[in-house]
Amino acid sequence: MTTQDTIFGKIIRKEIPADIVYEDDLALAFRDVAPQAPVHILVIPKKPIPKLADASLEDQALMGHLLLTAKKVAEDAGLTNGYRTVINTGSDGGQTVHHLHIHILGGRQMKWPPG
Ligand code: 5GP
Repeated sequence: MTTQDTIFGKIIRKEIPADIVYEDDLALAFRDVAPQAPVHILVIPKKPIPKLADASLEDQALMGHLLLTAKKVAEDAGLTNGYRTVINTGSDGGQTVHHLHIHILGGRQMKWPPG
């Protein structure tokens, strides 16, 4: 299976709808369909990297771009009091969609440790 087969691949190709809040040549950000906080946005690369563990040195600039995109998206969402970023990786990490994504969660107090 390639990540082109994932639901996020379909969102990138606009084959299914999503509440997109940011897009550029390299990245896409859209609201999570099952939000776990008042603000819950996913930032993904358009490149089909299945998970963080699959990123390579050639993705160095892209990975930096994704983090800075997460910062911008959080600012634009008005999360001036802070927010949490999460990257679930693989089975133990609780990853369910096999296309790399950064969760941005905000608008409430986060707890630690996570479940
Ligand atoms: P993971 O568990 O892989 O870290 O996160 C996957 C996230 O994708 C979940 O929070 C889930 O709610 C979200 N998600 C799954 N399918 C869709 C979809 O079709 N549209 C949107 N916007 N989010 C989705």
